[in-house]
Amino acid sequence: MENVDYDLVIIGGGPAGLTAGLYASRARLNVLLIERVAPGGQVLITDHIENYPGFPEGLSGPELTDKLVAQARQFGLPIESEEVESLTLEGPVKIIKTSGREIRTHAIIIASGASPRTLHVGEERFQGKGLSYCATCDGPFYRNKTVVAVGGGDTAVQESIFLTKFASKVYLVHRRDQLRATKILQERALANDKIEFVWDSVVTGLDGFFGLESVKVKNLKTQEERTLTAEGCFIWIGIVPNAGFVGDSLEKDPWGFIITDAHMATSVPGVFAAGDVRNTPLRQIATAVGDAAIAAYSAEHYIENLKS
Ligand SMILES: Cc1cc2nc3c(=O)[nH]c(=O)nc-3n(C[C@H](O)[C@H](O)[C@H](O)COP(=O)(O)OP(=O)(O)OC[C@H]3O[C@@H](n4cnc5c(N)ncnc54)[C@H](O)[C@@H]3O)c2cc1C
Repeated sequence: MENVDYDLVIIGGGPAGLTAGLYASRARLNVLLIERVAPGGQVLITDHIENYPGFPEGLSGPELTDKLVAQARQFGLPIESEEVESLTLEGPVKIIKTSGREIRTHAIIIASGASPRTLHVGEERFQGKGLSYCATCDGPFYRNKTVVAVGGGDTAVQESIFLTKFASKVYLVHRRDQLRATKILQERALANDKIEFVWDSVVTGLDGFFGLESVKVKNLKTQEERTLTAEGCFIWIGIVPNAGFVGDSLEKDPWGFIITDAHMATSVPGVFAAGDVRNTPLRQIATAVGDAAIAAYSAEHYIENLKS
């Protein structure tokens, strides 16, 4: 058998990666987790989590991250800070190229998650100057100010409600005439008198001199344009997979999410995927950690078979 650095390398330190790391460390695999920023993933930018089982009072994203990291480290999971740039997956030894080195491993779990989708209306100009994807990080800067939120799913609605703790008014711009979010969130948002809904509308432009001053929106039914005066704009219109480093080496769906079977196995033996980066009907913390437990179990069996 060829020499490797690790039995298993996990790419990404969000809930999926940390859970896979916990299971793999408990199984006494020679494992490494690589994370490009800091462990936690999208959870780090989540204000309040109330749908993760076992925490009836809810908890903040950073609190959950601390618990996940502590639990994985308790069983000896090493976490290193590096960005994965590419993968070579032919043959039984897989090669992971990071910014600083090449790592040889028998198996890989890809848990690199997803990033917010952008509007393509010149957001770059207002990055850090009024434009945000994170209410937890930036909401407090908008105390007694007017902000625009964009989207209609769970994240947009939950985070818009959170923004009303600070902002005097939140325009919630949604391209349809009803929200997609869970009913309980819809009820809370509709009852919140600081939220004004801008239905059937899309953002067509952002304006301002030093920072954001206004957001242009267009009604898709009437074609009418309107300018909303606002100092902040928060965008929650979906996510794109962090799977660029995978290239064409694995099968993906038309949106670039990695295709897996029920064992979290990808199209290449020894390579597994878990969490938001894979094609799945629901992208949540509970589903990410469930995927990851299966992926680690599958990887363990793959490695055992390889060694015997
Ligand atoms: C604002 C917001 C609020 C949310 N609220 C909730 C909620 O209330 N309840 C709920 O269940 N879910 C919520 N979600 C969704 C939940 O956060 C995700 O489903 C979950 O984090 C997915 O976990 P993951 O580990 O698959 O991916 P991620 O959390 O995206 O983690 C992936 C990690 O991989 C790392 N990575 C990516 N590429 C590389 C690379 N090339 N090299 C090394 N590392 C890499 C990233 O830096 C990241 O840390 C929310 C999401 C957002 C954005």
